Amino acid sequence: MEAGGEWDLSEMSNAQPGRQHSQEATNDWTDGLAFFDRQFRLADIANSVLKSASGESSPSLWDVYPELDRTAVSDYLQSTPARPLSLTSDLGNGAFRELTFHSIGEFYGVVQTFRTGDKDERATLLHQATHDPLTGLPNRRRFASDLSDALLDIDGGDEAMCLMQLDLDDFKPVNDTLGHPAGDKLLQLAAGRIRDCLSGTERVYRLAGDEFAIISAGSQRQQRSTELGNALVQAFKQPFTIDGISVFVGMSIGIAIAPLDGADPETLMKASDVALYAAKKEGRGRASVFDAAMLQIIEQRELLRRSLRIALEKKQFSIEYQPIAQSDRLIGFEALLRWQHPLLGDIPPSVFIPMAETDGLMSDVGLWVLEKACREALNWPDDYIVAVNVSAAEFLAAGLTDRISQVLDMVGLAADRLELEITESVLLERTVNNLDTLNTLSILGIKIALDDFGTQYSSLSYLKNFPFDTLKIDKYFVSDLEANAKSQAIVRSVITLAHDLGMDVTAEGVETVEQADWLRSLGCDRFQGHAISKPLSVGEIGQFVANSEVSMNAITSAAARHP
Ligand code: C2E
Ligand code: MG
Ligand code: MG
Repeated sequence: MEAGGEWDLSEMSNAQPGRQHSQEATNDWTDGLAFFDRQFRLADIANSVLKSASGESSPSLWDVYPELDRTAVSDYLQSTPARPLSLTSDLGNGAFRELTFHSIGEFYGVVQTFRTGDKDERATLLHQATHDPLTGLPNRRRFASDLSDALLDIDGGDEAMCLMQLDLDDFKPVNDTLGHPAGDKLLQLAAGRIRDCLSGTERVYRLAGDEFAIISAGSQRQQRSTELGNALVQAFKQPFTIDGISVFVGMSIGIAIAPLDGADPETLMKASDVALYAAKKEGRGRASVFDAAMLQIIEQRELLRRSLRIALEKKQFSIEYQPIAQSDRLIGFEALLRWQHPLLGDIPPSVFIPMAETDGLMSDVGLWVLEKACREALNWPDDYIVAVNVSAAEFLAAGLTDRISQVLDMVGLAADRLELEITESVLLERTVNNLDTLNTLSILGIKIALDDFGTQYSSLSYLKNFPFDTLKIDKYFVSDLEANAKSQAIVRSVITLAHDLGMDVTAEGVETVEQADWLRSLGCDRFQGHAISKPLSVGEIGQFVANSEVSMNAITSAAARHP
């Protein structure tokens, strides 16, 4: 269904794919040519085949072709187009009509071809225009028209319809690590799995990437949609097998019911979008039904977003410094960003940093942290390091290495006193450039630490491809070290692995002397956590450094008790 110009038939013709159309005025037409005047009234018929028109007094273009969108077609023709316009309409029952409009002097010439014969070919074309080639599911275009239709059908009465937006959790890492062919296969399997959960009145569409939608019409929608949502979430708890590898991708779902949550496509889409967002926020792998309270949460986040934009200039950010110990010696501090909102108080970095990243603010904020922390480090003993976290968005922005070396030059801090902490998510994107960036930083003498190791994808290929200076084991493995043999085994193996690859290991979140003991016995090099100190304000650092031997005793005393 392609229009001859850049116009799209779906906008120019009212014909709905698969819908029965009135053929009263058209049944007698076969192939032919007709002329319409500038007012769109029938003027002449060449090789006359329009029998039904002979009895009428000059029908208009719109009488003869009721499927045309009057405004769109007349606007197009009146714009004296350079190229003829071709439209194909599905008249239902396998019948198609192709119309080509030419602008000829005072007239519009319309060449028409009316076909029932090559039904299969036409049906294939129609199918292609409305379906996604990868999964075979109806596409976004089809979705838009079906959604409008479904909403028209529930006008009045106690019928309801339900719109569900579905999003795969963790599709991107699979696509990035296993490659696009594997990602494609996963989408096909996912489409099949969704379809298997549906009943006759429910239809699934692929909207884009890993986004799907379901429209289901009929009564009892509310209850059924929750059941269906849960069934889908359950179905996606089973792994997919792709090229012999088991892959887990969860499913998050947002549900909106019409007319309850909206009676027009836009409102309903927004409601299901909000519900999907809530499902993701609540920890993903779940289905959420839209609720007006969700809007409030979103509004609050919007408020937060807006204040984040001015937080830097309003000087609402500050930095705390958490000590890092190596054996029983203080060796430096990690800079941790803090945001004090004037009304809402302290907002945790886990909330505002992802926001700043998506809003493109993180490069500026990160640069501010870097400069401030490097300046602060000049006040410390000159063998102390300063560790600065770099988020994925900052890392991927162009010119990172230049900006960092400029800051070091400007502040006058030796490059080998700076340690940048990156997480595995940084390495997932644009891998080749990332390695270049990391290598450049390394050549400059800057140290690189892999933060939160073990919580994300923990791909060993990163460790092979880039020699990190330090690997930071996440507190997830440290918190139950005394009691959990599995955590002990994991920590022991990671430490051995890191040492064999020439890296130091930092344990994060060390809260007790027992944990410190265990870590030491497993060969861990560095320690960070409340057992040594919570993050400190700038004003507290001097005293902490002066008394650091005492603080370090806190984590070494147990070792002394049980040598
Ligand atoms: P991270 O880099 O892994 O930092 C360690 C987090 O663990 C910090 O949380 C710290 O306060 C907390 N922590 C330290 N010791 C303990 C302990 O013994 N027990 C427990 N339960 N927690 C401990 P915080 O400050 O909330 O920061 C969270 C994350 O936000 C950081 O994780 C880091 O990824 C990010 N972040 C913080 N500041 C910055 C920054 O300036 N830039 C960027 N890009 N990210 C930052
Ligand atoms: Mg960190
Ligand atoms: Mg960490």
